[in-house]
Amino acid sequence: MGFVISLSPIGVFAYMAWVVATQGAEILGSLALVLACAYIGYAIHAIAVYSASAKAFAGISPIAFFKGAAAAMIFAFISTSSAATLPVSKECADKMGADSDISSFVLPLGATINMDGTAIYQCVATVFLASCAGMELTLSQMVIVVVTATLASIGTAGVSGAGMIMLAMVLEAIGIPVAYIGLIVAVDRLFDMGRTCLNVTFDISCSLCVTEWEREKAAKGAKANK
Ligand code: ASP
Repeated sequence: MGFVISLSPIGVFAYMAWVVATQGAEILGSLALVLACAYIGYAIHAIAVYSASAKAFAGISPIAFFKGAAAAMIFAFISTSSAATLPVSKECADKMGADSDISSFVLPLGATINMDGTAIYQCVATVFLASCAGMELTLSQMVIVVVTATLASIGTAGVSGAGMIMLAMVLEAIGIPVAYIGLIVAVDRLFDMGRTCLNVTFDISCSLCVTEWEREKAAKGAKANK
């Protein structure tokens, strides 16, 4: 295994050389654009959905939330694994007020099935690969992409690069040859850093929201018993 891993930089370099030779050097510019597009999607999702849900359901301001989650976000960005980030995520969630029992349940569950960063990546990558394959996606195909990317992200493991493997399922759903994944394999790590960061952040936000809901439920129960 160690031998295979030590050879992988040469393999990726050779693959990239093939990609540039067959697609032309412009492909590098297109890859940079897709990467920027994915990161814009990640940022919009994080700001619009995470800070809104942390504020609306857990009463935490967006700045306090991102400050509290920063350690886990950085660790996820570097490790590209939600599973490996779990101890840091738990520490951040507990520090922000999540109940330890709840975060112990919600965070591992989230690291397994709650991967919105992965879903965003798979949609962006599919649209890019479709254009590389000379396909123009119809509205119904786009709906199929969104549905299958959501399902594929649920089935994605919380480890480095897993989302790219599951991308094959999304590509197959609309008839793009799986071999096209080769076009982004060399830069997948850059996509993975952002999407893992997003995946982990939402798990923390969820554990805070569930803690708040449970507290409200307990308070209501106590009131009813009086
Ligand atoms: N690396 C991601 C995670 O651990 C999964 C993926 O590859 O999309 O959350």
